[in-house]
Amino acid sequence: MCTSFGATTCGSRILENFCAPYDATAIRKLLDADAVLIGKTNMDEFAMGSSTENSGLKQTVNPWAPDRVPGGSSGGSAAAVAARLCPVSLGSDTGGSIRQPASFCGVVGLKPTYGRVSRYGLVAYGSSLDQIGPFGRTVADAALMMNVIAGHDPSDSTSVDETVAPVPDYLAGIDEPVEGLRLGVVSAFNAGSEASVQVALNVAIDVYRQAGAEIVEIDLPHFDYAIAAYYVIATAEASSNLARYDGVHYGHRTANPADYIQVYSRSREEALGQEVKRRIMLGTYALSSGYCDAYYLKALKVRNLIRSDLVRAFEQCDAIVMPVAPTTAFKIGEKTDDPLQMYLSDIYTISANLAGIPGISVPCGLDEDHLPIGLQVLAPAFSEAKLLRIARMFEAATDWHRKKPALVE
Ligand code: GLN
Repeated sequence: MCTSFGATTCGSRILENFCAPYDATAIRKLLDADAVLIGKTNMDEFAMGSSTENSGLKQTVNPWAPDRVPGGSSGGSAAAVAARLCPVSLGSDTGGSIRQPASFCGVVGLKPTYGRVSRYGLVAYGSSLDQIGPFGRTVADAALMMNVIAGHDPSDSTSVDETVAPVPDYLAGIDEPVEGLRLGVVSAFNAGSEASVQVALNVAIDVYRQAGAEIVEIDLPHFDYAIAAYYVIATAEASSNLARYDGVHYGHRTANPADYIQVYSRSREEALGQEVKRRIMLGTYALSSGYCDAYYLKALKVRNLIRSDLVRAFEQCDAIVMPVAPTTAFKIGEKTDDPLQMYLSDIYTISANLAGIPGISVPCGLDEDHLPIGLQVLAPAFSEAKLLRIARMFEAATDWHRKKPALVE
């Protein structure tokens, strides 16, 4: 997020010395609310990754275990809250980058509905998917942040008109349970996760059942195609969005180029990381003439099917509960040589971005290695207030959100 103070690097060497001339709207709103901004945090380069290992500048470790990743791409923001460096932080979520690091670091992370929080000043990755949201130690912290950052912004044409979807007070009534709550579950999803995640999820479902919720089995038939569709759409959008880092408009410029072609090619070659290059090439390929129909347009059709699956599911239930990620925080270096394995970490989070709906991660357990597990709750567009109340119901009945890493005991 652009800030008029300090550097705005996006975790990339290409922007290592870039100072933005203005504040992102979310930042400006926080400053106007007298927030004290104490720093900016590490992330995967241009938000591409699930472990923060793709940062071109720094390494971030998980405060719960220094040999583990904090998740990503907003890993620094989640780790900072978990390590009690700050009570709240901001991240961006294009395919899970708030919810997954929140889960890995044992904090709360909320991805709002697409258009609820202004993206003005958020450096674009996949513009149709990106959304800014808060991290906090509790659901109430996330609600408080939403009260400050949500709302229409004339500077972001995709931010939603408040006459269409009014912005509620997210904190008011947060402790009131949702009466007659119906929660959707997809048993097959839970079964696809690590044993500790499955156990925690089943216990969480029981917590809701005891609070009076009705659990309904739902079907999301196109979810299996979410990762494939996402990695075409997100990379296609990224290949266009990242064209501006060319040594001319923005960013690092190569020394002594022989001609103008070299200005572009060498500047990008020298300062962009491997994963970013991979995605620019993938996205450019998916958009190229002859392949656009087969890949990009097809992915958009799959996106529509996933969106319709969710709309249909929400006719049967108020919210859906599922894991945030199939595993807890993995070891640093464990997946860096295998991008496909890394992409699979996003299996449960990506659909919310494809459909534009809000999702939250709340701490719901610790595995045998004492690593946090997150519970994901998804709800229909613009129902963040209800989503926060549903998450708060769980928090009120459990004390997982009070657990802290040994580091801060
Ligand atoms: N892990 C996903 C990716 O690499 C999501 C990242 C994000 O939400 N920014 O694209």
